[in-house]
Amino acid sequence: MPANAPAIVPASAGTPRTEVGYTDLPEQPQGHCRVHVGYWHKKADEVDPPTVDNPGYHLRYRSTCGGCGHAGPVRSSENRAAEDGCDHAYPGWRTMPVMAERPYGSQAAIARWEAAARAAYPAGWFDRQGPVRAYRTPGGTRHVPGYAPGGGLSMAVLRSRQPAAPKAKPVQEGLFG
Ligand SMILES: [Zn+2]
Repeated sequence: MPANAPAIVPASAGTPRTEVGYTDLPEQPQGHCRVHVGYWHKKADEVDPPTVDNPGYHLRYRSTCGGCGHAGPVRSSENRAAEDGCDHAYPGWRTMPVMAERPYGSQAAIARWEAAARAAYPAGWFDRQGPVRAYRTPGGTRHVPGYAPGGGLSMAVLRSRQPAAPKAKPVQEGLFG
């Protein structure tokens, strides 16, 4: 980078894109790293690598990246494979804010929840299909594809460890009506 290159200013700083030096920033590359979790039925003669926690389970999972071709380790846990993919494509995701659980039903409530998540996360995070961390209750702890703003994964965080969620109110009956 040349010494006189413009500093990159986060979009959240409110700097208009027309400001001098801003328009020559590269557009978001189409081939950016992202997460896909594939699965298959374990074959009778398939030898499990040490990354398989539960050899008796009939499904195997693995994260792959459509941006660079990276493939994660073989897992018997879908959640572990999703976490592998996020570790690859979105370093730092484990330290991101934990939001309330995504509301169901009302599009307006979902829009409010997405706006809160976008405000709490780094600018551009969800435009790259980055994951959101969201509180869940036992029995609903799958990392769900497509439930982050922008279409990325919603990574489950058990509510039993819930501290105050930044910019997100606790889930209450009627809150998202
Ligand atoms: Zn990648």
